[in-house]
Amino acid sequence: MFPTSCAGCGALGGELCSNCFLQLKQIPRFTCPYCFNFSPGGLTHTHCKTPFCLDGAQSLIQYNKIAKKIIQRTKYSLAYQTLSVVLSQIPPTWYRSIIDFTLRLNPQPHLLAIPLHPKRLAKRGFNQADIVANHLAHLTKLKATHLLVRDKNTSPQALVPSKQARRENIQNAFLFINTNGTIPQTIILIDDVYTSGATAKEAARVLKMNGVQQVFLYTFSHGL
Ligand SMILES: [Zn+2]
Ligand SMILES: [Zn+2]
Repeated sequence: MFPTSCAGCGALGGELCSNCFLQLKQIPRFTCPYCFNFSPGGLTHTHCKTPFCLDGAQSLIQYNKIAKKIIQRTKYSLAYQTLSVVLSQIPPTWYRSIIDFTLRLNPQPHLLAIPLHPKRLAKRGFNQADIVANHLAHLTKLKATHLLVRDKNTSPQALVPSKQARRENIQNAFLFINTNGTIPQTIILIDDVYTSGATAKEAARVLKMNGVQQVFLYTFSHGL
């Protein structure tokens, strides 16, 4: 076994040293996922809504250099524990907003980790969105559901240059599958990073076309 090193600076001792941990920043204020202007709770403004749109989005931390390194190490070095340990080290108060939000929803929402294509999942061995979903399920006691499968092996969104190209890249990437008959009224999509939100918006469209009424997004980090 190699000794654990900090995902941020490489110092030996743990997944993230205290110096790098201090560089993680909570999202100061939430924005509408369509116009990116301020919106309480990250809800989509009424005037920004379209049929089958995402109803709101919240994230835990800002996507800065350290957040990027945590995600990259988790994904590309197959270090499941890096993201998992960081999630559990983040103070409970940083989760207050999403916990309060989910608990106010009635009926209770189901959590849905944005799926990876089966080929990519097989290669990586885990879906990093599941790590975030598992942590939120642990904090909220909400159920996780699997209503989507990734049908198209898309290029990683981070490598697609423009907003328009990202939308096209992800279009029709998801298939709706419902094995247990009842469709949850409200879904909270979970992912690791949120930039333009194109992936979550496409997932929301497919879920709503199949009868889900409200779809929100929660991610580990958010950066534009
Ligand atoms: Zn460090
Ligand atoms: Zn808006």
